[in-house]
Amino acid sequence: LNRRLAEFGTTVFAEMSALAVSTGAINLGQGFPDTDGPEEVREAAVRALRDGRGNQYPPGPGVPELRAAIADHQRRRYGLACDPDREVLVTAGATEAIAAALLALVEPGDEVIALEPYYDSYAACIAMAGGVRVPVTLRPDAGRYHLDLDELRAAVTPRTRLILLNTPHNPTGTVLTREELTAVAELACERDLLVVTDEVYEHLVFDGEHLPIATLPGMRERTVTIGSAGKTFSFTGWKVGWVTAAPELVTAVRSAKQYLTYVASGPFQYAVAEALRLPDAYFDALREDLRAKRDLLSAGLAAAGFAVYRPAGTYFVTTDIRPLGVELSHGGDGFAFCRALPERCGVVAIPNAVFYDHRDAGAPFVRFAFCKRESVLQEAVSRLKALA
Ligand code: PMP
Ligand code: GLN
Repeated sequence: LNRRLAEFGTTVFAEMSALAVSTGAINLGQGFPDTDGPEEVREAAVRALRDGRGNQYPPGPGVPELRAAIADHQRRRYGLACDPDREVLVTAGATEAIAAALLALVEPGDEVIALEPYYDSYAACIAMAGGVRVPVTLRPDAGRYHLDLDELRAAVTPRTRLILLNTPHNPTGTVLTREELTAVAELACERDLLVVTDEVYEHLVFDGEHLPIATLPGMRERTVTIGSAGKTFSFTGWKVGWVTAAPELVTAVRSAKQYLTYVASGPFQYAVAEALRLPDAYFDALREDLRAKRDLLSAGLAAAGFAVYRPAGTYFVTTDIRPLGVELSHGGDGFAFCRALPERCGVVAIPNAVFYDHRDAGAPFVRFAFCKRESVLQEAVSRLKALA
């Protein structure tokens, strides 16, 4: 393994999902729904396969039907006008969009600011691009993780190339506020920075609302926005994601993308085009279903003795394990806790520490996913009571 990747072993998601399989524990670790997305969308995929649409290489930027549907979605939801031919790019999930954006836009030695805790692929992709990651830590306060704007400003140097944002935020469940996003936007304009924003949980917001930073003044031209059908339609295995941005940025991202996968997911692209045109009722129902699950799991975790950071968005809830009597100063941390949890009570979770450079800042926090059937969450909650 080369030096750029030496610090990245197996992803924590693979490790913890394997642990769930080997112990038979309930997997609230890796974030994937245990119920597939809408039947009519699955039928659309079957039709595409059967009718021979997308069984051979689709066009490099994505099939026209899907690019048009993405552009319409951005206009309908956010009032953002995108030219489907020049400002939309379909990718192999958000994961490829992140990789291609960083590989295309970062010069070796450039600094990339990322909110910490950060989704694990950010660090690896910054490294593969030869960039230097500069974490800005989200701080828990009064039950919410927030962005410290002074810390953010202080992190910008003459070598800063871009800010990598994520809202709604995995793993904390924070939804950045208009005030926080406005400050990021002003800083980006003032220091002439690009923003790459991972908005894969855009439809999973329970409190407040999702605000794409591309809608703020001066940001349309300097923002790369990333979305994914994995989260919005519960098809994480299809790997259909997308980028929307100004033409020069899309062209740059596409230059990298064409040598990563070239293209992917042909028939599924047609199905996702139909999914994006589902009525608002679909998106509302998805959100309300997950809101109830958030409340169920959050209450269960609190009853089991965790301190709970009630998420405003995503399908993850972050907890603090210290009230359970875990003594961090005695070598205990979220990682040890998560490795022992399947044996102790038959549940798998993710230690947030792996998403931090400042490992100590993340040590007491553990993330649970609630994108599971209600009966599964109820069983998990009853098992977790053993900890209290
Ligand atoms: N970004 C974030 C914040 C995520 O949580 C995930 C998936 N868990 C991804 C990107 C990857 O999305 P995809 O499956 O579409 O590649
Ligand atoms: N995004 C999912 C999560 O945060 C996992 C995706 C993956 O396994 N890479 O849990």
